[in-house]
Amino acid sequence: AARPLATVPDPSDRLLGGLLSPDLDDRSCLSRYGVAAYRRPSMHPLSSHLVSALRRYESLHRLCGPGTPAYSRAVQRLRAPTTNGSDPSSEECSYLVWTPTAGLGNQILSLTSAFLYALLTDRTLLLHRGGDDLDDVFCEPFPGSTWLLPTNNNDDASFPIRDMKRLTIGAPESLGSVLGRHDGSSSSAQQQQQPWMYVHLRHDYKAHDRLFFCDDVQAGLLRRVPWLVTMADNYFAPGLFLVPRFEAQLARMFPRRDAVFHHLGRYLFHPSNTVWGMVTRYHGSYFARAHERVGVQVRMFKWAPISVDELYAQILSCVHRENILPLPGISTAANTTTRWRNKAVVFASLYSDFSDRLRDLYGGDDKEEVVSVFQPSHLGAQHFGDRVQNQKAFAEMTLLSFADVAVTTAASTFGYVSQGLAGRRPWVLARPDHGKAPPPGAACRMAPTVEPCFHSPPNYDCRANARGDSGKTVRYIRHCDDFPQGVQLV
Ligand code: GDP
Repeated sequence: AARPLATVPDPSDRLLGGLLSPDLDDRSCLSRYGVAAYRRPSMHPLSSHLVSALRRYESLHRLCGPGTPAYSRAVQRLRAPTTNGSDPSSEECSYLVWTPTAGLGNQILSLTSAFLYALLTDRTLLLHRGGDDLDDVFCEPFPGSTWLLPTNNNDDASFPIRDMKRLTIGAPESLGSVLGRHDGSSSSAQQQQQPWMYVHLRHDYKAHDRLFFCDDVQAGLLRRVPWLVTMADNYFAPGLFLVPRFEAQLARMFPRRDAVFHHLGRYLFHPSNTVWGMVTRYHGSYFARAHERVGVQVRMFKWAPISVDELYAQILSCVHRENILPLPGISTAANTTTRWRNKAVVFASLYSDFSDRLRDLYGGDDKEEVVSVFQPSHLGAQHFGDRVQNQKAFAEMTLLSFADVAVTTAASTFGYVSQGLAGRRPWVLARPDHGKAPPPGAACRMAPTVEPCFHSPPNYDCRANARGDSGKTVRYIRHCDDFPQGVQLV
């Protein structure tokens, strides 16, 4: 089937149709206003409500962010909470502190979800880094302020919530534990004022933690807590669409609900100059001269084992069946037609096996070759907390988002980020079944939406106070194609 010809990048669209503020400095972040020269314009309408919500948020962040008098007062109150019963929800600034966990793809998705929650609740979002592995990966997203939680050793400036690494499921300060101590009753729990609370939203979260997605907990208990700290390894944004009190605001910001990460991800995540250097180098060497750009992202998960041979055969069935790449026999014969001329395939994978084999298939470094195959890195294994690995990973996610056609791995957040930034639906390699690739006809399917999947939805019916099915609660949230336990916005 013929694909529509790619629209071309528009370097003059520096502000991405009004998504970005013009008030940031070009030189400290070359990618922010430079990416428009590489990535195609969005095909997803951007609502004026989202644009004004972002501009309003930027003003709030400028007022409440680190270094401001309001921030110092808020930290002071955290250090010495008042006991005179004043309503903390009337305080000028409240905060959401995000702490990292899991791989970079998971972190980008959880941070985006946290930002959406901050937008909905007028909280200021701050990143607690925990180490230096996120340094020099992203630019600062908000004008005239920082999103990094200051953590230096100067006693006055140091942050009163110590040792955030210990915060995990079951921590006494967690929403789940607080509610557990009050038999799940939000109104009883809110009698006790908390200066801060931890919200555990990792995949292992329990029934009481899941009440985060209930209206009464949002309206009562949580609204009154000035500082929230959260840890999530998931794209929990769809869960916010399950909360009735956010419904009207979300509908105005996202009249079409299928491009939430696409817009917020393009708004928040700009490669640092170091990462942008890698992206533009890769682009220049691999993609720049190609007639068509193909991105292939291959991930092998321990929980879904498959052999290299099986997976390679699955990739070939997918790219040939869906006319993404020509069959090798006919590639040179068809050399004279523009249809197959000059395709560049970039692989993102921890292993080089797949790209090596594909390169051999298309004739190595023959100058007349029709299909050229590249792979920027093959790190062999995933290391947590490694800055260079994060930089390479983000460079590759960004590069893949410039592709005309993408093939990704089911359930990979790495793939979700690249498809979301691109705003184009990828071909998704189906999950192996008991160690075997699916039959050739079912090797891959086009994703139903560019939205990432929320892998561990709350599955809680707040009104009935019982287990529920998050994929059957509202019309525009349903179970994911690539990971049926999860849910996604459509
Ligand atoms: P997921 O595990 O596929 O959902 O993706 P994550 O990004 O959360 O975690 C995988 C991590 O492994 C990445 O953040 C990288 O550090 C590393 N990784 C996995 N695949 C690749 C790849 O293709 N290229 C690079 N550079 N790193 C990768």
